[in-house]
Amino acid sequence: MEQDQGTLILGGGMAGMFCAMRLKEAGLPFLLVTERLGGRVMYKAEFKMNFGAVFYFDNYHHVKQIITPGPRVIKSFGQLLFHRSDTDSYSALSLRVLKHGWKLFRFLRFMKTFETHYEAYKKNCETMQVKEALKADPFMERLFFMTAQQFLDDLGVTEACRESVSLFAYACTGARVDTLTAFDYCYLAQGLLMPINNFEFSESAMQQRLGSVEFDSATKVDKTDGGYSVTTAKGRVFHARNLVIATTADAAQKLIDLPRIRSASRLSSYLVKGTLKAKYRGKDIHLFSDTSPVIYLARRDGSRDEYELYSAVGIDLADYFDDYSVRWQQDWAQAIYTHPALVLDQDLGDNLYMAGDHNGMGMEPAAISGIYAANRIIERSAV
Ligand SMILES: Cc1cc2nc3c(=O)[nH]c(=O)nc-3n(C[C@H](O)[C@H](O)[C@H](O)COP(=O)(O)OP(=O)(O)OC[C@H]3O[C@@H](n4cnc5c(N)ncnc54)[C@H](O)[C@@H]3O)c2cc1C
Repeated sequence: MEQDQGTLILGGGMAGMFCAMRLKEAGLPFLLVTERLGGRVMYKAEFKMNFGAVFYFDNYHHVKQIITPGPRVIKSFGQLLFHRSDTDSYSALSLRVLKHGWKLFRFLRFMKTFETHYEAYKKNCETMQVKEALKADPFMERLFFMTAQQFLDDLGVTEACRESVSLFAYACTGARVDTLTAFDYCYLAQGLLMPINNFEFSESAMQQRLGSVEFDSATKVDKTDGGYSVTTAKGRVFHARNLVIATTADAAQKLIDLPRIRSASRLSSYLVKGTLKAKYRGKDIHLFSDTSPVIYLARRDGSRDEYELYSAVGIDLADYFDDYSVRWQQDWAQAIYTHPALVLDQDLGDNLYMAGDHNGMGMEPAAISGIYAANRIIERSAV
């Protein structure tokens, strides 16, 4: 048995890394046990591409502190081509989209209100569980438990958004739009209203910054008299008073007795070198309706013949390219947790915490959940 680590953090994605950074800042001991740093953030320097999380929003205040900004993803809406079906494509600046002008304006006005509430909600989530932050803001709570469809219908913008915003929501999740909550839909729509950028992330720089990292996989968690013991795949046993489970929700469910969790979409990301089929050649970024297996296809910034492609299920690349070679493919069995609207406890009592994107998708919400766990530990250590 190893000596007491103070806090054990299992999982080194955004949630685990931010939990560790906050504890380090407060001078509290911890050990981060993880299969790899970054988790669903997987930047491969040899390709200068992210094969997991693709871009960050301008309001990712925490995530921005640990990544290096890359190129702007949407430089102008004129770059976007929407595909409702194989035979039905139109530009984001076409009359077909613009004729919905005043309805889109109504949606935009709602989004301004959302953004104000969302900033306060995120701040609250650093010191409150998501369930408490929702209780503190009935506007956000209502959106959290409402379907995106109900929300769009109530606002009278269903068709306007189906022709535009909904294709972006699908591109971000790979989940059918009718399975999203109103909260998640608005969260995603922010990406059309503020700058979004690609980014670089360095695992080695993060390892240096954190210090206390063991690359291993937790296989068993036991409650002991003084806290928790964690057994790993390499046969080590770690002990700590506090335990933060910051793995994916699926891995957490295997380690501790969790109730229901949201289900995650599957995604595959590809870096492809080749020649696009003629119908995709005119624009740089292609977004698809949620009946398409491909969710996002874009020419790489500054490249003539390299493309990023993300798909929700297996695809035949020959449907999109005349000729091609795959430079890298990454499959994610649990990519984005979207459905249904469940709020999991984060403070499970007895110094046990859950962190991650199980209550809300994306890198920043995951980071904030890690900060919340650390803040609780810091607060209790002071008593
Ligand atoms: C293809 C794709 C595209 C995405 N695009 C975006 C995007 O553009 N913008 C955005 O904000 N979000 C995006 N996301 C979602 C985003 O990546 C996640 O919401 C976020 O990174 C989740 O962070 P996390 O810390 O909760 O979990 P993870 O990043 O999954 O971290 C969990 C960590 O736990 C480790 N682990 C698992 N089991 C164990 C175990 N038993 N023992 C020890 N360690 C374990 C894993 O190896 C991993 O390092 C995307 C995700 C995918 C897959």
